Amino acid sequence: MKVLRLWLSLLIISASSVGECLAQTGGEWQLLAEKMVQSQIEKRGVSDTRVLTAMRTTPRHLFVPISKRDMAYRDGPLPIGYDQTISQPYIVALMTELLELTGSEKVLEIGTGSGYQAAILSQLAESVYSMEIVEPLAKSSTELLKKLGYENVQVRYGDGYKGWPEHAPFDRIIVTAAPEEIPQDLVEQLAIGGRMVLPVGKHYQELVVLTKNARKVTRKDIIPVRFVPMIKGK
Ligand code: SAH
Repeated sequence: MKVLRLWLSLLIISASSVGECLAQTGGEWQLLAEKMVQSQIEKRGVSDTRVLTAMRTTPRHLFVPISKRDMAYRDGPLPIGYDQTISQPYIVALMTELLELTGSEKVLEIGTGSGYQAAILSQLAESVYSMEIVEPLAKSSTELLKKLGYENVQVRYGDGYKGWPEHAPFDRIIVTAAPEEIPQDLVEQLAIGGRMVLPVGKHYQELVVLTKNARKVTRKDIIPVRFVPMIKGK
């Protein structure tokens, strides 16, 4: 009996210290991220291994408000304040896969929000320029990305409809808020041979991939989606 009690208490001690250890090393969130990738992303058909690795190794919980941290790896979008949301993990992965990044690209993102999508892009491209129209979000995401060491990302507070002409042309453009029509300035700032991924529409939105060659721009509709509307600047 005594032996059993000793064995049981040892078991309890070791179980709790494993738990502590996981929390200290960050192992707990990595397990959640792994589960997220397997059950939400791979299962739905995203297979680019570079994208899957970035989704596994990026601490999504640090990009959501503290009060929402325990929900960070769930299968849905989450509010980040100012009526904005961080996109569902699957949508982040799908849009990133559709960009077909190899590591050498200059990317423009419209809608920095929490900075999470920018952090994913930063690991898969040469450089990331990200624009955000809500000033406090531009500020907080700039600080967070810097603190976490995503050094090839630049965030600018401004209206994404106009793009970032000083750094154009961009090899890739990703828009994470929905315009009603494809913004012409962004098409112009897309390099020849480039790809743009964006949701388009008012009530019903389609996720669209645009490809541009020397002669024309081609549109391909992927799936229906739901994004926050892209805000018209003054
Ligand atoms: N990529 C973000 C998702 C943010 S939601 C993330 O990973 O968290 C869309 C974001 O687009 C919001 O933060 C919103 O403020 C921003 N946005 C909306 N209209 C915009 C515009 N015209 N220019 C730049 N950003 C815009």
